[in-house]
Amino acid sequence: MRVETAQAHYDVVIVGGGLVGASFACMLADQLAATPVKILVTEAIESLQASSSFDARTTALSYGSQQLYARLGLWEALAAYATPIHKIHVSDRGHFGAARIDQAEVGVEALGYVAENQHLGVVLTQALQDVEAIDYLCPAKITQMLPTPEGMQVQLQGRTGAAQSISAGLVVLADGGKSSLSASAGIRQQVTEYEQSAIIANVAFSDEHRNIAYERFTDSGPLAVLPLRELQGESRGALIWTVSQDDAKAMMELQDAQFLEALQARFGHRLGMFTKIGARACYPLRLTVANEQVRPGLVLLGNVAHSLHPVAGQGLNLALRDADVLAHTLLRAYTQGQQFGQMSVLQNYLAAQSDDQLLTTRFSHYTTRLFSNKHPALVWARKFGLFSIDLVPLFKRSFARQAMGLVTPKKHSA
Ligand SMILES: Cc1cc2nc3c(=O)[nH]c(=O)nc-3n(C[C@H](O)[C@H](O)[C@H](O)COP(=O)(O)OP(=O)(O)OC[C@H]3O[C@@H](n4cnc5c(N)ncnc54)[C@H](O)[C@@H]3O)c2cc1C
Repeated sequence: MRVETAQAHYDVVIVGGGLVGASFACMLADQLAATPVKILVTEAIESLQASSSFDARTTALSYGSQQLYARLGLWEALAAYATPIHKIHVSDRGHFGAARIDQAEVGVEALGYVAENQHLGVVLTQALQDVEAIDYLCPAKITQMLPTPEGMQVQLQGRTGAAQSISAGLVVLADGGKSSLSASAGIRQQVTEYEQSAIIANVAFSDEHRNIAYERFTDSGPLAVLPLRELQGESRGALIWTVSQDDAKAMMELQDAQFLEALQARFGHRLGMFTKIGARACYPLRLTVANEQVRPGLVLLGNVAHSLHPVAGQGLNLALRDADVLAHTLLRAYTQGQQFGQMSVLQNYLAAQSDDQLLTTRFSHYTTRLFSNKHPALVWARKFGLFSIDLVPLFKRSFARQAMGLVTPKKHSA
């Protein structure tokens, strides 16, 4: 429910109504639907367009994430804008060898879905306003948080600029990778610079994409073209092109025609000719992992907890699995009469998700490293790797399960 002012106390305050904060709020409200628990979501940025989560990017939602949204009753609205991925085609430019993962072999309807972040934003923001247990305050920026024996005291600055103090049993920090609140709480981030940037844009091409997601590893970094819905009869895809930081600046300055020419040369003709490109945006890439994710009364979720290279489309999908397990953990705490902010409760959550976080972070980090290195031994290794994926069904299935977000053996064990 959209509110103009906040109450003095909430059981859970979620800082940030971006992709992760909004999704978690819906999951928590769903889990705690039979309880009187009250949730506040504060989002600093009013416009969906300007918000860092709901910008011009597209997101590859794994099959696992689709299942989560379906359980919340949100998939019907999201599906209207999402494009199913039926095949993933992974290749290494200049090297023989390609891996193909097919939905039919894995036995699912789709390997994943491609959704435009703005559409995700429309659906999730509406859901925040529809759910009775959620108070959605926007624009409202949390400026300070202080631990108390009962949880946390937060200061917020609303539309009028007036400050308000709110107590919370638990604060869920989902304020993104540039979180000033975690920094001022003294939570440090381990940062690995990739010295790469991702250039993203929507592109049109002459051939049909046939619901194939292409991941092409080039000597400058991975290049992905994900299938999008047709628009005005044109075949479209979402381009995510990772290049060195030095190249990124020059490539952002290219005219559209020159950029498309460079893209065609790198990608080849699997989609025919590239004919059009929308607005380009550039994101510097680094791996950041917070050295603490839980404290009494506080838990970090989404990019503030871990922010990954977008190479295999894992960042949001991992955060949604975290959010799902956290929501289950809090339901269990409620039924056992435990406080949400109790350290043992939050440690249970972390223990249940730590393997998944480690595995997924390593998967995206080492894939990035392996495919961006030109050393001849690595070239052979990855050529062999691609053959292995294609030829060994068991390995292929485990690769597919990771990419589809179906890896969580310890899930819900908290
Ligand atoms: C180029 C690119 C492509 C990607 N593709 C994929 C993909 O295909 N699949 C995938 O799974 N992941 C992908 N990701 C990762 C995914 O985008 C992130 O995991 C996701 O955006 C993280 O969302 P978040 O809500 O944690 O953070 P953010 O998106 O940064 O949202 C944080 C929100 O908090 C708000 N906020 C900040 N401070 C405050 C405050 N003090 N008070 C109130 N509100 C505040 C902000 O306004 C913002 O709305 C990609 C990332 C990039 C860069």
